[in-house]
Amino acid sequence: MVNPATEELITTVPATSAAGVDAAVRRAAAAQARWAALAPGDRARLLRRFATTVDAHREELAQLEVAEAGHPVGNARWEAGNVRDLLDYAAGGVERLTGQQIPVSGGVNLTFREPLGTVAVIAPWNFPMPVAAWGTAPALAAGNAVLLKPAETTPLTALRLAGLALAAGLPEGLFQVLPGSGAGTGRALVDHPGVAKVVFTGSTATGREVMARCAAQIKAVTLELGGKSPNIVFADADIERAAAAAPGSFLDNTGQDCCARSRILVQRQVYDRFLELLEPAVHAFTCGDPTDPGTAMGPLVSAAQRTRVRGYVPEDAPAAIRGTAPKGKGYWYPATVLEREPADRVAVEEVFGPVAVVLPFTDEADAVRLANATPYGLSGSIWTRDTGRALRLAQSVAAGNLSVNSHASVRYWTPFGGYKHSGLGRELGPGALAAFTETKNVFLDTQDPEHPQEQP
Ligand code: NAD
Repeated sequence: MVNPATEELITTVPATSAAGVDAAVRRAAAAQARWAALAPGDRARLLRRFATTVDAHREELAQLEVAEAGHPVGNARWEAGNVRDLLDYAAGGVERLTGQQIPVSGGVNLTFREPLGTVAVIAPWNFPMPVAAWGTAPALAAGNAVLLKPAETTPLTALRLAGLALAAGLPEGLFQVLPGSGAGTGRALVDHPGVAKVVFTGSTATGREVMARCAAQIKAVTLELGGKSPNIVFADADIERAAAAAPGSFLDNTGQDCCARSRILVQRQVYDRFLELLEPAVHAFTCGDPTDPGTAMGPLVSAAQRTRVRGYVPEDAPAAIRGTAPKGKGYWYPATVLEREPADRVAVEEVFGPVAVVLPFTDEADAVRLANATPYGLSGSIWTRDTGRALRLAQSVAAGNLSVNSHASVRYWTPFGGYKHSGLGRELGPGALAAFTETKNVFLDTQDPEHPQEQP
């Protein structure tokens, strides 16, 4: 693992072989049988204890995230707190995971929600802790075992979380972390017949392969993939507020955010004014040492990621706004705002770096057309003072997570997921635990053989 702000080697972590995956699946199956047999109240208590243990180690987890992912320390602290919250939220569902009693003729019909067994969670490097916990917390709460494969570049927080789970009293083998490559450990997990469901977060290209491999075994799969989300600013919006909020929506996490609002669509009559206000706001989003609590933006995660971003936008390409970034060691890349044609590659494809394109639009119909003109459909924001327009737009933009006069997208209380090439299925929210269960239907014939119920 390499610190992306200094390029110093932190440590190395051995990869899990196919035999290692197989052994982990066997340990998980044994632990899962014991876990599912526990009283729901006891499972909930253990998950709450896990949450409390994470909370007690928040600073340690945050520092690991700063070191291996280059996240500003304020963000990293929030991320560790988010893991705690996800565990608490899931723990609250354990004792409420009810089935149904459905009215039928001739007897009583019940449904049960049964755990799937062992779930594989495959996480990316951009939000190593929260994304790992989105799948892990509800899967455990619903009575499953979890095998988590972190991204190659960011396994350290995941490994620490597994240690904290054991310290909190979760059974050995129930939550295991299997570091390794996608082509090796990742594929072995996806293909293993002992894995009942795969929760994958990553690129659309890899998601397509994971889904095809799951299809070969009729295995359940959830895909959280890429995005190219619009930030739509109407002339009737509070333009000052919209401009002040825009930098965070595409620069947070150095733009390595699947929900980044990297296409800023601005109604033509306020276009110049918006750009004028955006410029100082972008410059105020300071890029630098992630260990400094005043830093808003750190480096990109790796040399490979910087090469990818430069492939879209070389640092000397013409830009409407360009921020500053440290020179020297570290995978730095400055905040960049471009004016380009709507069909340009950089305006349609996911860059996954601190780059946004600003595009003018004429009216509502034009805004919707532009917003939907990508293969993605993850998130989006709508800035307007007209509530009717806000709702019309929210219903017309083909994306899973929209916000009005805000850039909030991922919240553990509400469902999250993508339309089109941004994904399949939903995570988080009130249905999170149910997504890790099979529904079993049971009918009990209650008819008295002496007096069978009359058929109509
Ligand atoms: P990636 O697809 O390369 O890797 C994601 C994970 O999958 C890693 O753990 C990797 O080792 C593993 N993997 C790679 N090939 C695999 C294979 N053949 N079989 C099984 N596992 C395999 O993506 P990345 O570059 O790590 O992450 C960036 C991408 O993730 C971006 O496109 C971003 O938009 C997306 N992302 C989406 C969300 C979301 O919720 N929609 C959240 C975060 C990131």
